[in-house]
Amino acid sequence: MPVLVMKFGGTSVANLDRIKRAAKRIGVEVAKGYDVIVIVSAMSGKTNELVGWVNETSPLCDAREYDAVVSSGENVTAGLMALTLQEMNIPARSWQGWQVPVKTTSAHSQARIEEIPSENITAKFAEGMKVAVVAGFQGVSPEGRITTLGRGGSDTTAVAFAAAFDAERCDIYTDVDGVYTTDPRVSEKARKLDKIAFEEMLELASLGAKVLQTRSVELAMRYKVRLRVLSSFEEQSDDAGTLVCDEEEIMESNVVAGVAFSRDEAKMTLISVADRPGIASIIFGCLSDAGVNVDMIVQNISEEGRTDMTFSLPTDQVSRAEKALDALKDNGGLNFGELDVDGDVAKVSVVGIGMRSQSGVAAKMFKVLSDDGINIKVITTSEIKISVLIDRKYMELAVQALHDAFELEKTA
Ligand code: ADP
Ligand code: ASP
Ligand code: MG
Repeated sequence: MPVLVMKFGGTSVANLDRIKRAAKRIGVEVAKGYDVIVIVSAMSGKTNELVGWVNETSPLCDAREYDAVVSSGENVTAGLMALTLQEMNIPARSWQGWQVPVKTTSAHSQARIEEIPSENITAKFAEGMKVAVVAGFQGVSPEGRITTLGRGGSDTTAVAFAAAFDAERCDIYTDVDGVYTTDPRVSEKARKLDKIAFEEMLELASLGAKVLQTRSVELAMRYKVRLRVLSSFEEQSDDAGTLVCDEEEIMESNVVAGVAFSRDEAKMTLISVADRPGIASIIFGCLSDAGVNVDMIVQNISEEGRTDMTFSLPTDQVSRAEKALDALKDNGGLNFGELDVDGDVAKVSVVGIGMRSQSGVAAKMFKVLSDDGINIKVITTSEIKISVLIDRKYMELAVQALHDAFELEKTA
């Protein structure tokens, strides 16, 4: 039988009614003759609650116990979904990550899937089971401990299963009916895209569009998984939602496919560090050892052998970064003047593969922002994206202005 993977996010399994509605949708695919692997998230809000409990109990917690706690939300929905399907006379059973097993690295709270042996589930399909309901977001480390895949990780579980079982398609059911030109909750003018190229989706996701976890897009691209994003709230046709696919499958597209943003950014500047070989290596080596994810980096021109080094990072990593850099200063490894922290910035990015062949996108972006009096603090570019760091209070304004300027509301 052909295999189909269907993933239901938190709002799609938020209560028993929603689980029933999702189960009906699964029933439609079973009736078409598929063996279905269903990946479920925890009920919406549940993972946040669990993370909150962990932080309250132990702020610098043992990551293995963090995973033991925060993975539990998915166990509940997996069992409830299997029971709901059984009530509909659809042969189904639930699987926790370790039972499959979903083998991951031991990087607790940020683990990567290494292997999903298909034998156990395939054997059950051969015995007549129609639906395997798998708890998303979780796996098991080589040491036999429960791991989690980072926030939003059920998307990655879904794509990894689609690759491991050579599924016909991986359908991601969520609370919007596809991938939009920007977050529809920020701009009313956002338009749904029928198709988006893997590379564009990868950039949008990594730049803040949380509709898909970045790693899930990476895996889909590598294993050529047909990935579709669609709504669990509406009746769906076979071509509903947005297909994430190779760029060759897209006939015509805008220069800019979408605008992404990330609200929780901070900027730090090391004022007056020596401008000599090895300094960047000391600074960013120390930050990396402290588990800080540095994003944008700018080094000023130097004056009298000293320069300023600016970088951006997620807001919740600022105190970790401060501690690491202060320690470096105290033990003489690095001499700098001051450490300036700006915790109120946001990153706004435009993304599109059309930028490879069309120039002027950066100039247009900067003009649009300056027309609205928005000061740009840091800029980074790649072949298919331009990102700027700006004051957080202008983030929505910048997203709307760029969406208008690149005429994304005209996207078909
Ligand atoms: P789930 O719980 O189903 O995994 P998420 O909340 O993780 O859902 O992701 C869906 C959300 O992603 C939407 O509600 C929307 O606000 C947000 N989002 C951000 N950028 C985009 C975009 N470009 N297109 C669609 N949704 C987006
Ligand atoms: N429940 C997890 C989270 O909220 C995983 C997911 O939903 O994808 O991050
Ligand atoms: Mg999600």
